Amino acid sequence: MSKEEIREIVGKLAENASLSLCEYKKLIEERTHDSAALLRVLAVKKRKEIYGNRVFIRGLVEISNICRNDCLYCGIRKSNKNCSRYRLSKDEILACCKEGHSLGFRTFVLQGGENAVFTDDFLCSLIEKIKVNYGDSAVTLSLGERSRESYERLFSAGADRYLLRHETADSGHYAKLHPEKMSFENRMRCLYDLKEIGFAVGCGFMVGSPFQTAETLAKDLKFIEEFKPHMCGIGPFIPQSDTPFGNEKSGEVDLTCYLLSIIRLIQPNVLLPATTALASVDKYGCERGIMSGANVVMPNLTPVNVRKKYALYDNKAVEDSESAQGLDVLKNKMSAIGYEVVTDRGDMAVL
Ligand code: SAM
Repeated sequence: MSKEEIREIVGKLAENASLSLCEYKKLIEERTHDSAALLRVLAVKKRKEIYGNRVFIRGLVEISNICRNDCLYCGIRKSNKNCSRYRLSKDEILACCKEGHSLGFRTFVLQGGENAVFTDDFLCSLIEKIKVNYGDSAVTLSLGERSRESYERLFSAGADRYLLRHETADSGHYAKLHPEKMSFENRMRCLYDLKEIGFAVGCGFMVGSPFQTAETLAKDLKFIEEFKPHMCGIGPFIPQSDTPFGNEKSGEVDLTCYLLSIIRLIQPNVLLPATTALASVDKYGCERGIMSGANVVMPNLTPVNVRKKYALYDNKAVEDSESAQGLDVLKNKMSAIGYEVVTDRGDMAVL
């Protein structure tokens, strides 16, 4: 494919036009230093038009690593007997929010494995309490697949946002990453239910997951174009040694940044994090993510004594700017590249 053809596809993206699956695939297959640089410039320009130089922060509370699922890539999968399990109590979670609020966080992300103890009653009373204590803050949930009725109750209790990565938009690929019990159809059902109910919804995927191809990535991008998520979490796949994919290689930082730029252009107002996984594989991963079009960072508010137990992958970054307590480090890092960390709920801008 000629440089001209790639420029034409990038031009369409910059004008927010729809691309075909084939065009997305070409964009991935024909990635060059030049196309990456061009996309990065366009993505940063677009993000600056909408969000200026503001970086939103989310306080991440990893509420439990107990999970009934057995996703083949994930270190907290049910079959991992080497995972030392924990679950935070309601009071412990509230204490995390208290600390986070005083540090300047105005969004709390409650993330965890799928765990029968997190009943609707438990979660609704927790959400209500957070909302009473911190009415100026958003509550984001990332607790996996639940029934529509459950999502409805959580939304009525005051939860604002829900993160549920689609993981891959190719059903065959999905089946290779998950046990038979889990289905692509149910993942999609959850995402569409969440959106219909009124949540701000986040989808996303791992870059470089086993069996991923340019074609499956093109489907991911097309899905994002059509689903129009409020948030999109992408980060490199990183092997966890106790999982079936423990010997696979990590996803590439360059490709992750390239995809961040493309996603910014597909949906200019999307809330796009520079993820912990990106910071875990590259010392400058957070900065590189922001400089590719991301506008969100999610420092960890989980109690320090269990933070390492939430080990989705090996060598997770848990210190400095990845830690809520290291917020000053993050602020300095961001200011060094011309960005400002703000105290704000950080809702998606309405265009
Ligand atoms: N159980 C909830 C769910 O399924 O959405 C939330 C927790 S789940 C562990 C959060 C995300 O971690 C997953 O959506 C997946 O993309 C990511 N993840 C899991 N294992 C990973 C790995 N080895 N490398 C990178 N990301 C991983």
